[in-house]
Amino acid sequence: MDNTNFIEISESAFKNNVDYINKRLNPGTIFSHVVKGNAYGHGIEEYVPMAARNGAQHFSVFDAHEAFRVRKVAANVDVMIMGMITESQLEWAIENEVSFYIFDEIRLAKAIEWAKKIGKKALIHLEIETGMNRSGLEELSWDPICKLLRNEKEQLEILGFCTHYGGAENISSHGRVLDQMKKFETAKIIYQAAGIVPKSYHSACSAAFLRFPQSQQDLVRIGILQYGFWPSAETYLAVEHSLSQKPDPLRRLLSWKSTVMNVKKVKKGEYIGYGNSYMAAYDMQTAAVPVGYSHGFSRSLSNSGRALIHGERVAVIGLVNMNVMMLDITHIESVQAGDEVVLIGNQGELSISVSSFSEYSDQMNYELLTRLPLDIPRIIRS
Ligand SMILES: *Cc1c(COP(=O)(O)O)cnc(C)c1O
Repeated sequence: MDNTNFIEISESAFKNNVDYINKRLNPGTIFSHVVKGNAYGHGIEEYVPMAARNGAQHFSVFDAHEAFRVRKVAANVDVMIMGMITESQLEWAIENEVSFYIFDEIRLAKAIEWAKKIGKKALIHLEIETGMNRSGLEELSWDPICKLLRNEKEQLEILGFCTHYGGAENISSHGRVLDQMKKFETAKIIYQAAGIVPKSYHSACSAAFLRFPQSQQDLVRIGILQYGFWPSAETYLAVEHSLSQKPDPLRRLLSWKSTVMNVKKVKKGEYIGYGNSYMAAYDMQTAAVPVGYSHGFSRSLSNSGRALIHGERVAVIGLVNMNVMMLDITHIESVQAGDEVVLIGNQGELSISVSSFSEYSDQMNYELLTRLPLDIPRIIRS
């Protein structure tokens, strides 16, 4: 059934961003498409097949459940779990040739056990602690880990040797990132000397890929950039020198749309919606839109959010309700039920950006995108 609240994904914007990334990618380096957080809100079930038919071969996810969703819609791509996998999910991963990070001895021992039982090698990536201090093999464990890897090499295929940087998108963390790179190089040499030769080395996310091209190595794990967003304003300024007013080379894939549910005239002095947060200061015309905080349109946008109707920018008035919000359309003639409303994206000459949804903050794109509810339909447009 049609839904009156939906997210459009632009395939041509995806191709544009992939071209931009490929131009900066070293020859031979694999581009892993990071699709954790429901493909940053774009929808794994829609995004992954679209990316795959445009040549994407490698996908990274946070946990086994996301890997399962990727496998279901794309059988012949590489899938890598960077975070959570339980013991009972290890069996599925090994069976289905999904690779996963190893950041402690227990998981490694369990993976070896399951690989033996199943009769298939576990595909693993050794995550090295270099200073992020979230997960990663600490130096004290390297010796016993290397022994285990050597003794059980029949059960294992060491696809990767990797780490993650704590803040490559901020200049203030650059010293820390450089330290992490040094530590990673040291670890590499120690493991090689212990006879461990992984198939690939990888560490770069979007920001590291742009700011530290030497971090590309054999594979880059790119999330936010492929969706058309910069990791931070700083990254954009540093890479594209946007003060020269060149157009942004990236394009956003995602638009969020709905339709007008109802149009109403309200007399001067009347309150609109719940409570008394908004009083009509003149004779007004309003449009109700069937999107509220239950759909991810934050209540904090009450009396402050914006939307587009008939190519014009209009204001959210009153409180955002659970399923409905109201817009001031006094100055727009002939709005009717069924007309398109844009909550994020373009209409005519105007656009509403993801970051305008809240006071601008560097992490806002990541958070807002991934909080878009799972059950809003995602529709791919060429
Ligand atoms: C999320 C994540 C990435 C991708 O980060 P972006 O900034 O979106 O490119 C890469 N590596 C790891 C380990 C991650 O968790």
